[in-house]
Order: sequence, then C-alpha cells, then structure tokens
Amino acid sequence: VTTISVQLPAPVPGDVRDTLRKHMYWVTPGIRAVTVVEGEPPAMVVDYEGALDGPAVARALREAASEVLAGSDAFRPVVVHDSPVVLAAAPRTDPFPTLEQRRWVCAEAPGSFTYTGPMARLIDGLDRAFRRRLSAFGPAEVQLPTLVAPWTLHTAGGLGATAPSANYVFHLQEGRSVVDRFTAACVDPDTGELDLRSVPDTSDRPDAVLSPAVCQPFYRTLSDRTLDGPQVVSGRARCYRYESGATEGLRRLREFSVRELVCVGSETAVLRARETMLEAAAELLRERRVRGQIRTAADPFFIDSFSRMRMYQLSFSVKHELLAELPFDGSDLAVGSVNYHGDHFGRAWRIRTDNGEWAHSCCMGLGLDRWAYALFAQHGPDPDQWPAAVHGLLGGADGS
Ligand SMILES: [Zn+2]
Repeated sequence: VTTISVQLPAPVPGDVRDTLRKHMYWVTPGIRAVTVVEGEPPAMVVDYEGALDGPAVARALREAASEVLAGSDAFRPVVVHDSPVVLAAAPRTDPFPTLEQRRWVCAEAPGSFTYTGPMARLIDGLDRAFRRRLSAFGPAEVQLPTLVAPWTLHTAGGLGATAPSANYVFHLQEGRSVVDRFTAACVDPDTGELDLRSVPDTSDRPDAVLSPAVCQPFYRTLSDRTLDGPQVVSGRARCYRYESGATEGLRRLREFSVRELVCVGSETAVLRARETMLEAAAELLRERRVRGQIRTAADPFFIDSFSRMRMYQLSFSVKHELLAELPFDGSDLAVGSVNYHGDHFGRAWRIRTDNGEWAHSCCMGLGLDRWAYALFAQHGPDPDQWPAAVHGLLGGADGS
C-alpha cells in the first residue's frame, strides 16, 4: 500500500468534506482509504494499492478534487431550522462497537446488517412514529419495489447520474452447460473457497437495479395521466447505494430502510406540501429528542456534474437535509431529506395537472437505520437510560 498526500487548493467546507472523500474512491481502482486533513495547506491523505505509480494517482486525485471543490464556496448551505433539543449528557463514544458486541447489529455483507433486539424494535417503532406524524398529509399507503427497471431510472434522467452507486442485478444465462460451468468455477476445488469471479462469463446482462431512490417507481404509475388533484402517498422501502470504500458502519450503508412521503400535483400544491414536510421534519426531531438541524443541501451525484448540480440545488433550495449530531465526534449525519423536483418527473413521465401544466413533485425520505443510530449516539447504548419519548419507540412489553 502506498500512502499518497495531495495538497488541496482551498480549505474544504464541512458539508463538502464527505462528498469529496466519497468521490475519491472512484478516481481509479485501488483507492483504499481517504482522509481529509485540515490545516495549512489543507490536504488529502490516500492509501492506494494498484498498478499506477504514485505521482500519476496524485495527479488524478488532485484533478478530481478541484472539480468537486469548484464552486463549493459560491453557495453556502443555509440552516432553516435548529432543533431545540439539548442533550443533558451526550455520550462521548461511538455506540456502534457496543451494538455489534451485543449482536443487536450484525454485519452480513459489506454495508448490510441484520438487526435484532432493541435495534430491530427501534427501527420498527420509528417507522410507526413517522407514519403517525405523516398521517396529517392523508397519504395512501403504497408498496414500493426493491427491483427497479433500469429503464425507469433512465426515463427519470437518473441512471447516468446514479450509475456508480447503483447495484445491478443479473441472473445466470439459462442453459445446463452454463450452470455446470458456474457451479464448477464458483468453488475452488483445492481450497473449497467460494469465488464468484466467474459470474461475468456466465451471467446475462443486468435486467434490474436495486432501488437507489425509492420514489421513482411511483411517478411511473402516474405516467400519461392528468391528475384531478394532488396525489399523496407514503411507503416504507429498502434503498441501495454502492459507496465503494466510503461504506462505513451505520453511517454509510449499502442497504437501508426509508419511510418515504411523496406528493405530485400542481406547483402551488406541491410547494405547500414541501413547507408542511419541513415543518413535520422539525417536529419529528423535537418530539424524538434528536439534536440536529435542517439545512439546504446539494445532492452530490458524480464528479463532473457535482459542482453544477450543487450550484443548481443550493441556489433554488431544492434539497433540504435533516442532520443529526453525532456527539462522539461532533460530525453531522443526514437522517433524512426533503426534495423538491420542480416539474422534472412530471415532464419525464408526461403527468399533467387538470389545467394542462406539467405536474410538480416533492418527497420526504426518512432513513430508519440512521435515525436509530443517531438516537443510540445521542442517548447512549442502554435503552434503560433513554428519555421517555425515545424509549417509547421500542414498544412492546418492556418498551412502554
Ligand atoms: Zn424520494
């Protein structure tokens, strides 16, 4: 492993640091760890294990970093809400190792976990609390799929932008000989070890993507329709993002659960719904004793489009993030977002309002896993010590 230090042209704003790290894993194969070092001058320290020489990798990293940083100081995020919650005695340690040790959180595949005990109950309780709060919107419940057609993402204009973070799904080519070849190759006859590297030669082309943005299939259900009023739906779904080396504990998962609320309708109705969603988000933070903020945010897609997207999103306040503070290291964790899409999906799916205009849309996504992690981080790993408003989320015999 080679350690490469890259000097950065400018200090990295706090809200861009995470994005910068995330993008560096995509510069070239073999990037193992990325650390942003504040200081004079600011720098990035990168562990690299691959075929290129150090200076070539450093050059590529520097180039990618300046693209991410370009324009990052033109618009600053704006805090639109500060949660009034004060933590009496915020724990100084990351609860994650304790949760793992108690087997409430058990690693399954990279970025995917099985939850048991209080962690499982908390996630379910959070969803119930969210549904109760969102019932004020009068949503119809929808069941959103996990397997999404690549075509749906393409039509929504998203496959290009989400290409690197998408998880592609394929199956083996039909045929006895292919299956035999696969079976023979997937286990090394000498060591008995599983090795799925032979899959690309035996698989068919991917015919589905594990849903990277859960509300997309809903817009498709409204395609070529004229709405007779705002459509408001809610659903709990699994969401998937491949984040390469940036995958980390409960902070950045590859598979997670979301409670989603979607509104499609006229511009006026959707903007009003967006305001109400932001109010509901602020209430949820307060009600469930979460110390955090709601801020305008830029949604980072990919390196070449990041500065453009960031400028667009920040300047029109189209994305708001709910951030929970992690007291053990002072960082913020995005536990949800409220997104206004303008008429983007209305146009993409030819959805009109009754006065003939393209429908507008907005959605709110609440990440159940991260909410649970934030509550453990802010109130400690022992549910017995939690305030009633948090403990009540556990439900059941010993939770009420
Ligand atoms: Zn959404």
